[in-house]
Amino acid sequence: LGSRQFQPEDTVITLPHTTIGGDNFVMMAGPCSVESQAHVRKMAKLAKAGGATVLRGGAFKPRTVPYSFQGLEEDGLRFLRQAADEFDMDVITEVMDVPHVEMVGKYTDVFQIGARNMQNFSLLKAVGKTQIAVGLKRGMSATIDDLLNAAEYIRANGNPNVFLIERGIRTFDNKYTRNTFDLAAIPVLKKLTHYPIIADPSHAVGVRDLVTPMAVAAAAAGADGEIVEIHDDPAHAFSDGPQALTPDLYKDMTRRVNLVRAAL
Ligand code: PEP
Ligand code: MN
Repeated sequence: LGSRQFQPEDTVITLPHTTIGGDNFVMMAGPCSVESQAHVRKMAKLAKAGGATVLRGGAFKPRTVPYSFQGLEEDGLRFLRQAADEFDMDVITEVMDVPHVEMVGKYTDVFQIGARNMQNFSLLKAVGKTQIAVGLKRGMSATIDDLLNAAEYIRANGNPNVFLIERGIRTFDNKYTRNTFDLAAIPVLKKLTHYPIIADPSHAVGVRDLVTPMAVAAAAAGADGEIVEIHDDPAHAFSDGPQALTPDLYKDMTRRVNLVRAAL
């Protein structure tokens, strides 16, 4: 169902403030984690000022280490929703477990399925039984076909509102970057599937100074949009501080991406 042969025309997902896919280019931005009501509001204002129409923020965090910050859970979802509503934005946030799908769905416009859950088939089926949009992240060791098969689980269960997120994969060299950004996956996926393809340069490189060049490259490669992490005080971020764009870097990134888009 996800193939171009089955459906030649692009999947276009319509949210209250955003169109994902087709001719539109979407910017999604926000902190890695929802940290507090005041902080996520400040980040929403910044995200919007840079042109983002979708606010990201994790309230349930899939942390590698169990002692790391795990998220504000339902309070975080409420703060995220309030901040997005105040600035006329849509919400994307991660849902980690099947029992949370209904509750998270009350607050969000888009379910994010994290890289670590890309092949959690029970979760894919559960979000597939809703009509809420799903941003499916490529697993860090998933092939392109694995990603497409994971998307198929969502679509086959009745939810056509799917988009894919390239967020970098694990390779032999992770000394200078957190993951390896698979830039070529963008045009490959555009050819194979009608789903919108969003780039996540933040998790792909994990290093602040490398996010903008990869965001620009992804736009040039034909991505349908970007999802990036921003923070006003990255040194004190609750998660993923080293990859967060500061306000100035974020605005510079969106300016460069828009220039590339206009030149295509
Ligand atoms: C995130 O978006 O903060 C996140 C945990 O991403 P990923 O699943 O790609 O690691
Ligand atoms: Mn993160």
